[in-house]
Amino acid sequence: MAFVEFRDVLKVYRMGEVEVAAVDGMTFDIERGELVVVVGPSGAGKTTLLNMLGGMDACSSGTIMLDGREISAFSEKELTYYRRYDIGFVFQFYNLVQNLTALENVELASQICKDPLDAGTVLKQVGLGHRLDNFPAQLSGGEQQRVAIARALAMKPEIMLFDEPTSALDPELVGEVLNVMLSLAKEGMTMVVVTHEIGFAREVADQIVFMDGGVVVEQGGPEIIDNPQEPRFKDFLQHVL
Ligand code: ADP
Ligand code: MG
Repeated sequence: MAFVEFRDVLKVYRMGEVEVAAVDGMTFDIERGELVVVVGPSGAGKTTLLNMLGGMDACSSGTIMLDGREISAFSEKELTYYRRYDIGFVFQFYNLVQNLTALENVELASQICKDPLDAGTVLKQVGLGHRLDNFPAQLSGGEQQRVAIARALAMKPEIMLFDEPTSALDPELVGEVLNVMLSLAKEGMTMVVVTHEIGFAREVADQIVFMDGGVVVEQGGPEIIDNPQEPRFKDFLQHVL
């Protein structure tokens, strides 16, 4: 059994009369310690996929397993614990508390955790040992995003989920965030990363999933970037490369 298993996962949103299948039957596995990069155009269902894996959104049908536990059958209470203790989530916008220092932002999040890592130690791990007492407004976007990564890591998650973590950053700040992610991957963290950073995907991903219209269109090792088979994937790569 794989660490993460998606089986025929469907997510339908209803808006009045209209139904949108944001994820329209996805099946894939993630092994422990793998770095999976999910790519695809806007509206492909990437965020929906992460939200279901992160326990923030329930699937309409199908099963989602993590480490042998069926997330898709969890009660609300189980989901609350799952989000708190098992999942590290990093979003495009870092959402730090503006009147708390970097250290206090990480400590605040650790308060809901049973046995958190030391906030100063994780901030050092993301290269911010010298920035502990700075407020978010005194940090660059890349540094703020690294605080957000530290905040998630302090909870000792089983898996880290990243939803376009560098999309809001100035181009010169993207590299420092990707480097922190790379070092996490090297330490064996299981990671699912939604990103348009194709170079990063090619260099560090164990698996790439290209999705469009809520389905997996093409999937494989990083070599599929240089040798795409599906026309939709080829077309997408031409636009982002
Ligand atoms: P991506 O992250 O790849 O851009 P999303 O997962 O955000 O795609 O969205 C996939 C599809 O589902 C889109 O058509 C989007 O409009 C729709 N969708 C996403 N979230 C909701 C929601 N809460 N209610 C209704 N439709 C939604
Ligand atoms: Mg999205």
